Amino acid sequence: MTCRDVNVYYGDFRAVTGVDLDFGLNEITALIGPSGCGKSTLLRSLNRMNDLVDGARVEGSIEFRGVDMYAKDVDAIEVRRRIGMVFQKPNPFPKSIYDNIAYGPRVTGMKVSNMDDLVEEALTGAALWTEVKDKLKQSAFGLSGGQQQRLCIARTIAVKPDVILMDEPCSALDPIATTRIEDLMQELRNDYTIVIVTHNMQQAARVADRTAFFTALAAEGSGDRTGVLVEYAPTGEIFERPRDQRTEDYVSGRFG
Ligand code: ADP
Repeated sequence: MTCRDVNVYYGDFRAVTGVDLDFGLNEITALIGPSGCGKSTLLRSLNRMNDLVDGARVEGSIEFRGVDMYAKDVDAIEVRRRIGMVFQKPNPFPKSIYDNIAYGPRVTGMKVSNMDDLVEEALTGAALWTEVKDKLKQSAFGLSGGQQQRLCIARTIAVKPDVILMDEPCSALDPIATTRIEDLMQELRNDYTIVIVTHNMQQAARVADRTAFFTALAAEGSGDRTGVLVEYAPTGEIFERPRDQRTEDYVSGRFG
């Protein structure tokens, strides 16, 4: 997936400014930077979730497998099936565990020869199967927060996406549940390309192959531009040998 000169506006306000980024296949890319620098806005533009936000407008080019995702003949719903999203707060549907998983395949009209198998596969893929296999008909709300988030990941992978976007997926979870999700991400990377927004720098350092650092200000005196990509590199470089002083200030905790 590639971004070329991507600008995202809310009305007149430009929240993302001129971003060029290439996301690696089967890699985890972390988007980091201070609050309000446009990370979530950029993430949402990657699967046209911003289409649903009043006044939001995306300019520039975002291509997925060489296809312009904003082209007129591209179906936004199909984009969101192939590029799934997991949100900050686990948001299971008020349905059973089973139906949470089966819902997506049903509404998207996926050809499913055996729904039970698909549900098991998705729950296994999200490292949740053994914990829930005896209570599939129970409400998803009975699960812990961490389990609910893994259920949401299972729900996302049930429709067989290519990419999973995660918007601070662990920020509502305790450290143990967070570790489970991070471990799961390492496994998911074998089958999916993952882009994660995180405000937790240690998390980016632990899980991401590449990290993109954004800032709200382009440079001294450049006005009120926000969502500027400062530096994008393998994660080790961003944290150990950043090229830009602004990255260094941020990752060393001097700013942010
Ligand atoms: P981050 O994820 O880095 O914290 P966001 O992408 O949420 O940043 O926000 C970037 C900027 O866009 C902020 O100034 C925020 O106030 C603004 N913004 C975010 N969502 C909306 C919206 N729906 N309408 C108007 N402005 C928004």
